[in-house]
Amino acid sequence: MAVVEIYDTTLRDGSQGEGVSFSAEDKVKIALRLDKMGFHFVEGGWPGSNPKDMAFFQRIKNYRLSCARIAAFGSTRKPGVPVQEDANIRCLLAAGVSTATIFGKSWDLHVTRALGTTLEENLAMIEDTVGYLKSRGLMVIYDAEHFFDGFKANAEYALATLKAAVRGGADRVVLCDTNGGSLPEEIAAIVRRVRDELPTALGIHCHNDCELAVANSLAAVQAGVTHVQGTINGYGERCGNANLCSIIPNLTFKYGYETIPRSSLAQLTELSRYVSELANLHPNTHQPYVGASAFAHKGGVHVSAILKDPRTYEHIDPALVGNRRRVLVSELSGLSNLLYKLKELNFNLDASQEDTRRFLEEIKELENQGYVFEGAEGSFELLLRRAYHNYRPPFKLESLRVIIELKENSPVYSEAIIKMTVGDEVVHTAAEGNGPVNALDNALRKALEIFYPDIRRMQLTDYKVRVLDEKDGTGAVVRVLIETGDGERSWGTVGVSTNIIEASWQALADSIAYGLLKNNEK
Ligand SMILES: [Zn+2]
Repeated sequence: MAVVEIYDTTLRDGSQGEGVSFSAEDKVKIALRLDKMGFHFVEGGWPGSNPKDMAFFQRIKNYRLSCARIAAFGSTRKPGVPVQEDANIRCLLAAGVSTATIFGKSWDLHVTRALGTTLEENLAMIEDTVGYLKSRGLMVIYDAEHFFDGFKANAEYALATLKAAVRGGADRVVLCDTNGGSLPEEIAAIVRRVRDELPTALGIHCHNDCELAVANSLAAVQAGVTHVQGTINGYGERCGNANLCSIIPNLTFKYGYETIPRSSLAQLTELSRYVSELANLHPNTHQPYVGASAFAHKGGVHVSAILKDPRTYEHIDPALVGNRRRVLVSELSGLSNLLYKLKELNFNLDASQEDTRRFLEEIKELENQGYVFEGAEGSFELLLRRAYHNYRPPFKLESLRVIIELKENSPVYSEAIIKMTVGDEVVHTAAEGNGPVNALDNALRKALEIFYPDIRRMQLTDYKVRVLDEKDGTGAVVRVLIETGDGERSWGTVGVSTNIIEASWQALADSIAYGLLKNNEK
């Protein structure tokens, strides 16, 4: 099986994406994770460009990596400056890495217009820089910036730049579609041309401006490159880089190449979410392979087929990439979705059909009122348990009151007072908060903490309010969706009412009740 090297540039190119920001510590964590999963290269940053990247290289030296080579990124020397005196190259050497990735210009337009030097000097800059770093004992990867655009404008010169890198001793020559405007057929044809001319192992680096970065990378591999650069979740400048979360499974499962170990592929979904967490970006639920919706089934016809054989509507087994099948309950749902859900939750399928149909009617009625269970699997399961099992709620509300005080020249005051029964005991608590829902959350936790210390680990991670029938103005029905996590898993719950406090209470109470239920099952 042919091997394709995976080169991750999430920490450098990926961090140039809008809204993406990693601390030096985050970068270390991600690099260690990629190393553990068997990525061949991890590009840590551009030591010449900012101190944060330099801090990363200082810290990563304290770890022994098992697989990945850490690469530092930098440009060729400046025109007219001896390479050993170039400030950027000095920073790169100071980073103390064993691998340098050097980018240089391939497009004559960029050389004369952007760089303002001669075509000959640019060739010397490439050869000098690569040669100097080789003489210092580094592995050198040469990134040919704008290679495909350059080749289309002036093929002879673009090839001459690659040959300069080869003369310098480059270990890999990486062809970049920097502006992301090339098509898969062009990429394949140009890679083949280069293949015929160059002895060195080739790589590909694509951007996603035409949403073709993954397709272009795959086309390049089919045409002969053995090294693929990209980022986790496709983060990067403008529309992003080539998404390794799609490229790796495509290369492995569709083309049969060897990339990272199969056991690591089963951690791909987790990796994708981990990186989005550290980048502080919401995971893209519709992302192929690793998104929460990638194997989610909603239509009744689909679900009934999936129940018979998952291959009917799934291109691979989700477990291969660490994802899972989900069956959504919604107004589209038929009996099959419900039966699937029941089975998944270990409910006795022998329950009489009559019961099942009645429960389905109940869900449809709730959906008419504005409930959605797609993002609220916690509330759905509680509903199911209330209907089918002799479920014992962990607490019962007697009454609640929320007080809000607005006074001129002083901050708004919110307080919640709750009376509940827990087992045989009646608890009465009050708590303040920075708003009414926060006060409610605080009071609920305060009341339950002594009975269920586990709730300290449960954190509200997202709170969304949606007005359902806007034409009714302030009298409209609102839906509250809450996401709660305990560090291991996260779950969604829902509440609906014309009163935002009541809707919030329903979702909050469900979130705690569901968390406690799952803790008991452990
Ligand atoms: Zn790039």
